[in-house]
Amino acid sequence: MGPLQIKEILQTAPENQAVTLKGWVRTKRESKNAIFIALNDGSTIHNIQAVAEPGQFSPELLLSVTTGACLKIEGQLVESQGSGQTVEVKITDILVYGAADPDAYPLQPKKHSLEFLREIAHLRPRTNTFSAILRIRHVLAFAVHQYYNDNGFFYLHTPVITASDAEGAGEMFRVTTLDLNKLPRTEDGAINFKEDFFGREANLTVSGQLEGELGAMALSKIYTFGPTFRAENSNTTRHLAEFWMIEPEMAFFELEDNMDLAEDFVKKVIAYALEHCKDDLNFLQSRLAEEEKNKPQNERSIPLLEKLSFVVDNPFERLTYTEAIDILLKSKPHKEKKFQYPVGWGIDLSSEHERYLVEKHFKKPVILTNYPREIKSFYMKLDEDGKTVRAMDVLFPGIGEIIGGSQREDNYEKLLERVHEVGIDPQTIWWYLETRKFGTAPHSGFGLGFERLVQFVTGMGNIRDVIPFPRYPKSAEF
Ligand code: ATP
Ligand code: MN
Repeated sequence: MGPLQIKEILQTAPENQAVTLKGWVRTKRESKNAIFIALNDGSTIHNIQAVAEPGQFSPELLLSVTTGACLKIEGQLVESQGSGQTVEVKITDILVYGAADPDAYPLQPKKHSLEFLREIAHLRPRTNTFSAILRIRHVLAFAVHQYYNDNGFFYLHTPVITASDAEGAGEMFRVTTLDLNKLPRTEDGAINFKEDFFGREANLTVSGQLEGELGAMALSKIYTFGPTFRAENSNTTRHLAEFWMIEPEMAFFELEDNMDLAEDFVKKVIAYALEHCKDDLNFLQSRLAEEEKNKPQNERSIPLLEKLSFVVDNPFERLTYTEAIDILLKSKPHKEKKFQYPVGWGIDLSSEHERYLVEKHFKKPVILTNYPREIKSFYMKLDEDGKTVRAMDVLFPGIGEIIGGSQREDNYEKLLERVHEVGIDPQTIWWYLETRKFGTAPHSGFGLGFERLVQFVTGMGNIRDVIPFPRYPKSAEF
């Protein structure tokens, strides 16, 4: 459909046939005998080289062929004279769709820092790095849908606007149509949300899980894949205020089954990317190697493709929270007081602890289970001992927590008790509680932060660089 893309043209056998190229100029190079234009249309990391003869085009026209300009080039597809590509295009005609004034266009063919590129997020998809990331992001999203479809899951669309603050997963963004300058008040002076759009307080969702559970109690296996919002003021390289989450929820799955699914799922989608994003991954691998070339050999990270294959080919380490605490208590950094935060049964593991377990101790992805009930959500199923819950976190090297999940509490009385314990008004989630009254069933689910997965696969250090238009504190440009 539509004109042939550069990716397809690059794979075509050259027979002097007429071709039309449409894309953006990456570079123009003039030598004594020829003018070379490298054109890219985003369909592939590779540029196509188009060649003109000196004097073939007017100096005025050539002046507007600069980095960033958009062109239509007519020509013949021929075998390439130069090295590095098999085909090139002998130009017969050039049409400049849109020039890009070189004095003003910020993306010149030189190295730009990722921080600078974040300030020009409207243009950064035109760089090799970001176009590669965006293509990989697409392939991973496709692989996610394919995986669940192939495994009998139904894609459930959970609401973006919610009125329940039950998940407690993070600070919420308020949704309102009230006039902030003229807030309606009740008699005692509080804001009268009865006059707001929904007749009550509403927020952007922090997770689709609760509604996902409703779906699982009818369709057995569902998944959500949508945007989630957390107004957490965390300026880390792992948190966004708006991110995409994949949340499968399955009836008749216990914690073991949940772990098996989580492990199989991430392995399959990473394997899919390895198979379908070779060129982009190779590019990103070299980019990382380049970034680290000044580091001593023993401090360099393992090559990206090797890292991904390792995760696909090796079983994740599974252990309980209690076992993990024992390992941490016996660890060198603990004994030498190198950890910033104290270690002991009951603590919420901080990222330094998770990183020690994953990167130093096991050197592979880890699934931690059976966390203390106090540090986990109310809906997680209590273990027999009453002290721990059937939670599971999947921890990845360089990322930390990539998945958080659990078997859900399916017993009405126990769930209600926990609801009271954590101070949620049962009235606000009456519909959630009813699933435990009518045909309750053992069930489980988890949430995977899509950007953390993209971060892992692309090797990018900052989560702000794996989503087209990142949202974080004090930043909602574009
Ligand atoms: P963390 O401790 O890293 O903040 P969390 O415990 O708040 O994570 P969950 O509420 O379990 O995370 O959410 C499920 C998954 O969503 C996490 O495992 C992670 O991959 C992802 N995630 C959570 N918060 C964010 C965020 N602010 N930005 C991007 N991804 C996130
Ligand atoms: Mn969080």
